[in-house]
Amino acid sequence: MITIDGSYGEGGGQILRTSLALSLITREPFNITHIRAKRRKPGLMRQHLTAVQAASAIGKARVEGLELGSTNLTFVPEQLKGGKYRFSIGTAGSTTLILQTVLPALLLADQPSQLTLEGGTHNPLAPPYHFIEKAFLPLMRRMGAEITMELERPGFYPAGGGVFHVTIQPCKDLKGLELMERGEVKQRSVLGLLSQLPFHIIEREFQELKRRLNWEKDCFKPLMCESKGPGNVLIAELVCENVTEVFTTFGEKNKRAETVASSLVKMIRRYLSSEAALGEYLADQILLPMVLAGKGAFTTLKPSGHTLTNIHVIRKFLSVSIDLTEIDEDRTIIRIQD
Ligand code: ATP
Repeated sequence: MITIDGSYGEGGGQILRTSLALSLITREPFNITHIRAKRRKPGLMRQHLTAVQAASAIGKARVEGLELGSTNLTFVPEQLKGGKYRFSIGTAGSTTLILQTVLPALLLADQPSQLTLEGGTHNPLAPPYHFIEKAFLPLMRRMGAEITMELERPGFYPAGGGVFHVTIQPCKDLKGLELMERGEVKQRSVLGLLSQLPFHIIEREFQELKRRLNWEKDCFKPLMCESKGPGNVLIAELVCENVTEVFTTFGEKNKRAETVASSLVKMIRRYLSSEAALGEYLADQILLPMVLAGKGAFTTLKPSGHTLTNIHVIRKFLSVSIDLTEIDEDRTIIRIQD
């Protein structure tokens, strides 16, 4: 039984999700203590509970400690089973983090899978749906995975109610990628999502973005969406020769539209001012698929706490070599070898 200290490094939910993913893949049971010890409300929240339930459904697992607030959990997987699943969080908790938990294992399942996920689709502090669709999945496809996804309805905090569908074909031999340079920026755009809020919010955000970014007018597209509650999200997409990166900021009550736009500008500039291929989020998320491929390398901005913590958890389950070489303050090479 592998033992995991949930308070290590970032000390958040990602340690649990990566452990679940790796336990499903290796069929190694694990016990995790101090779950989310470094979060304001430690223990399993509804989103983490759903992640464990999803993992236990696809891994026919025996689970101890599965309750809200639990800080200690034992997970014993038995048999990995692809197929049709519906996972509903019941709150605005992030659905993409449920996908992050089960996707690597479902690539190794015996049959194709169709998932329906319900909850939040665009949450701060989690991968927004469009990030997965435009940045993460294209890399997975280049690694050989056949995955499609479709957004039925976005779900924003706090109302939730978002739904999306994913189909996953088994792919037992993922190919590693070398992503050392991002290459030229070929296309750039900002999508502004708005639900149940006045249109002038997007107008003000776009005005600020146009002033600060100096991009052509037709780069900015508003999208009024049907959702269960209000929401405002700005999604910047930079399509580069070798990789597409996506940056997201979220409108909030009492936050000025100009501030939301200006945070997005900051993220875009930080990425463009470095020569790294991957931003910090894509780096921590592509790590596990690269490890499953057994080889690969990429350059990234300074590795985040999530990336370093993920490396620690991966090393608990697999004896793979993951080397970090800092080139400069804003660029590190991460290389994975069997
Ligand atoms: P919690 O304990 O509340 O679950 P945590 O800190 O363990 O939180 P998260 O913050 O849940 O873990 O993990 C965050 C995940 O979401 C990471 O994989 C990170 O890359 C991703 N993420 C966060 N913000 C973004 C963003 N704006 N775009 C893409 N991915 C993001």
